Amino acid sequence: MYWVTAKEFKLDIVAKGDTDKGFFYAANNFETAEHGGTHIDAPIHFSKGKQSVEEIPLEKLIGHGIKIDVSANASNNPDYLVSIEDFSNWEKENGLIPEGAIVLLDTGHSKHYPDKIKYLGTDKRGSEAIKLLHFPGLSPEAATWLVENRTINAIGIDTPSIDFGQSEYFKSHVILLSENIPAFENITNLDQLPQKDFEIIALPMKIKDGSGAPLRIIAKVEETI
Ligand SMILES: [Zn+2]
Repeated sequence: MYWVTAKEFKLDIVAKGDTDKGFFYAANNFETAEHGGTHIDAPIHFSKGKQSVEEIPLEKLIGHGIKIDVSANASNNPDYLVSIEDFSNWEKENGLIPEGAIVLLDTGHSKHYPDKIKYLGTDKRGSEAIKLLHFPGLSPEAATWLVENRTINAIGIDTPSIDFGQSEYFKSHVILLSENIPAFENITNLDQLPQKDFEIIALPMKIKDGSGAPLRIIAKVEETI
């Protein structure tokens, strides 16, 4: 699924079939906006002079993850804002958010993917559709708290954007990306993760000067049996 003003993914088949030389051959062209499907926001997306995709150090993209589960609060509220209290509640149970953590926000919203009305708030497209967007995000107050009080490597959310759908000024983007903290958007399957003690590998397509890129993000969870 793509942002309402972004070009959607398109695959053009160049070849697919048996050749007259006896071998099978398949090849395609593709066209896509950077910010669609599961993708990364590079710092330069909202912060002048900051890192583009290929400049993000791998240390920010590979490392220990934690999950903040706010799905109980967000499930009936498509305008839910992840709050400082949500982080404090996690820390009461698990200790301080560890230095260098990749912080994943589980709003439960990805269960609506790919139903546009439920996931984005609208099936309309274009700039007119922006004010119709409804999905949870991170509150600017909580983003500020995170960058001022904890040292995290990256953040991710199971909605189309780290700022909620009704955001006008994209403040959480600005706050995080200005600190060179990349954001992963449209991630999924967070319900399968524990609250902590897992590894994240989040490798984007390495687009030179990219403001974002398609992202392959996986978690490695230790078996505890
Ligand atoms: Zn994005």
